[in-house]
Amino acid sequence: MALPKHSFTAWLILNNALMLKDQLAHIQISQDDLCCLCQLATEIHKHLIEECHFSKSLLQGTGLWLESDIDQKNALIAIARKRWSAIRKKLCIAAVLACWYMVWMQRNGARIHGSVTRPELVVQQIRSMIVSRFHECKPRVVCPKDRIWLCKVHLI
Ligand SMILES: [Zn+2]
Repeated sequence: MALPKHSFTAWLILNNALMLKDQLAHIQISQDDLCCLCQLATEIHKHLIEECHFSKSLLQGTGLWLESDIDQKNALIAIARKRWSAIRKKLCIAAVLACWYMVWMQRNGARIHGSVTRPELVVQQIRSMIVSRFHECKPRVVCPKDRIWLCKVHLI
């Protein structure tokens, strides 16, 4: 259910393949190695995705909407282990990948333009992307338990 561009960015993240400031500072392209979003820690994959307060705000805000705790270490594995239905797991994984994508976009905006959009507004953008994607990919048949959850999170 994830958008291809979100999946691709996630693949880069999971393979530590994003060009972050720790590497840019190492090859002397950047003067410092601090996170572009918070300026509080070295910008490495683990910080950007799991520790930075900006990315945590996106995951927590999106998780609140989905009534699902998606702000966890090893989020994809944690979601896969949940006793949730397949559709809920797919939506939550798509939401995590959308958050990671938006973290990367905001990080690039911060590096190039020096500005970051407020997390609440980014969560609204993520929600809009997930809603659109769900309506493109939604299954024809939804069990009553999933229907209740989907109604509660305003997806149907
Ligand atoms: Zn940070």
